[in-house]
Amino acid sequence: MFQKMLIGGKLVGKDSAKTSIKIINPANEKVFARVPKGTVKDIDKAVKAAKKAFPAWADTPLAKRQAIVSKIADVLAANAEMLARMMTKEQGKPLAESMGEMGWTEGYLRHYATLEAKGRMVQDDDALQIEMRRVPLGVVAGICPWNFPVLVPFWKIGPALITGNTIVIKPSPTTPVTLMKIFELCNDFVPAGVINIVPDENDLGKALTSHPDVAKVSFTGSTETGKKIMASSAGTVKRLTLELGGNDPAIVLPDVDVKKTAEQIFGGAFMNAGQVCMAVKRVYAHKNIYDELCNELAKLAEAVVVDDGLRQGATMGPIQNKAQYKKVKALIKSSKKDGKVLSGGVVKGRKGYFVKPVIVRDVKDGNDIVDKEQFGPILPVVKFSSTKDVTRQVNKSAYGLGASVWSKDAAKATRIAGKIESGTVWVNHCVHIGPHIPMAGFKSSGLGVEQSTEGFEEYTQIQVLSVAK
Ligand code: NAD
Repeated sequence: MFQKMLIGGKLVGKDSAKTSIKIINPANEKVFARVPKGTVKDIDKAVKAAKKAFPAWADTPLAKRQAIVSKIADVLAANAEMLARMMTKEQGKPLAESMGEMGWTEGYLRHYATLEAKGRMVQDDDALQIEMRRVPLGVVAGICPWNFPVLVPFWKIGPALITGNTIVIKPSPTTPVTLMKIFELCNDFVPAGVINIVPDENDLGKALTSHPDVAKVSFTGSTETGKKIMASSAGTVKRLTLELGGNDPAIVLPDVDVKKTAEQIFGGAFMNAGQVCMAVKRVYAHKNIYDELCNELAKLAEAVVVDDGLRQGATMGPIQNKAQYKKVKALIKSSKKDGKVLSGGVVKGRKGYFVKPVIVRDVKDGNDIVDKEQFGPILPVVKFSSTKDVTRQVNKSAYGLGASVWSKDAAKATRIAGKIESGTVWVNHCVHIGPHIPMAGFKSSGLGVEQSTEGFEEYTQIQVLSVAK
């Protein structure tokens, strides 16, 4: 399969050994599709097309923009199964999770389609009428990761389009196909140049983030790349929204129902093979329930069926790409040295980047598996004895995306939650997000906010019209 890219309403790209990128199915390491290898020239053309489309799109009545975003949601719904199969081949997640991603994306789009960027009257008296308006910015660049290859780009496309901006998407080099297929399916009703996409081999980000005609960069990815984006967009003072890495702690107090809590934490840690920005990435369990919690987590890990996501019965797919697989393997190796591995490990004797869920106990702060973002199916469990210390301990991290606190005493857990330096802290649940809920990171986990009214407004510029009477 060869999937063309969309620039200025045209599907372009030639399939040849020199001009295509091979997309690998992580479940068998075979090429499952090819896409054009975008160039700096293509980025330039895409930005030009988006800039050309901007004035008419910004002037399009809100109701029409909302209708077009709703129609994209209709296309997703009508083609969900075909697209989900494609995504499982491309990304690796089990088919049910791919179907889930299609459903969520549709839901987010339907929510965005009800929104409006509202201004307000700041002053209206005998002397002056001062109105604050929210106007679109122009061309937005959306730079995306590989863990949710459809959902994350539409978190940018939806708000950008409703507020009257046009957009150029740069997908992750390993997961561009399903998204490009969706753009092809929508090309007969989305005006030319409003949505554009240029795939790359991890080499075109800078061309977008330093482009003088890009007004805003909305980036989701690693903290390391986020810092590079801040630097390269400084020259043109671009608006930035950065959703970066996390190392989300789960603090488990001694009064919990251990079995139930283990199940919830396990779900929050291993969904999408642990490749979720807000996944539980380190557990801090009180010493009184430490052994029991570790054992329950290990039991759950043993029950997971790791297989090709298209196989019936698979509950976890492979790691998405070879580079991440290598990183995860190195963390498993260091975990064996630093602590005790209770379950799982690398699946040997078959093709594909498969890892069975790993639970590591007897590890401490300072060990790689606790301090670094694993972004894969390994979960370290750290023992603690003082609630006061544990808050200080988890706050030492440079990350501050999400966290969770677990206790039968919700009021006590909420007090602890308020002391954790994280954009979201869940009490007795985890990884709960939605289009109406602000999503922001403390410290190195991000800049700005996505979702909610506050995130939506980041796609606008404040303009004050001050009229003397
Ligand atoms: P990554 O930073 O390696 O890549 C993300 C995107 O940035 C890719 O499209 C990549 O090609 C592009 N890129 C690479 N170098 C660039 C540069 N110099 N300039 C501009 N763009 C560049 O991240 P990844 O490995 O794809 O994703 C995993 C990371 O993303 C994890 O750290 C995870 O926590 C984070 N993430 C965060 C969120 C969130 O909402 N906070 C959501 C999903 C993933």
